[in-house]
Amino acid sequence: MENCIFCKIINGEIPSNKVYEDEKVLAFKDINPIAPVHILVIPKKHYESIIDIQDNEMEIVAHIHKIINKIADDMNFKEDGFRIVNNCGENAGQEVKHIHYHIIGGKTLNWP
Ligand code: 5GP
Ligand code: ZN
Repeated sequence: MENCIFCKIINGEIPSNKVYEDEKVLAFKDINPIAPVHILVIPKKHYESIIDIQDNEMEIVAHIHKIINKIADDMNFKEDGFRIVNNCGENAGQEVKHIHYHIIGGKTLNWP
């Protein structure tokens, strides 16, 4: 997708600090972390948000969750707990229009 910053990260036009990659997803450190752990997990296929993922494509969402589990395990923050955030659309303040799941942790988090 032209002019999508996360597609540019996927194709290497923009550098990123990668923590995991396979044929379907990429995970990298957020450029502006709000906690000691702040990782973004994105599908390599461009979708603006969850509302653009068709019913028959939903396995990518399960895959992303599986990889979040693996990253939490590999990076040793699984036992401490963490938060998964997906901002969808304007009211949620979604800034980058390529679906992404934030993994946030490494400290006690307030809610909301
Ligand atoms: P949103 O508000 O859309 O859910 O979150 C977008 C996130 O992407 C923000 O946390 C922001 O810091 C991060 N971000 C934006 N541009 C870049 C970039 O070029 N590289 C990285 N690593 N993160 C980015
Ligand atoms: Zn994109």
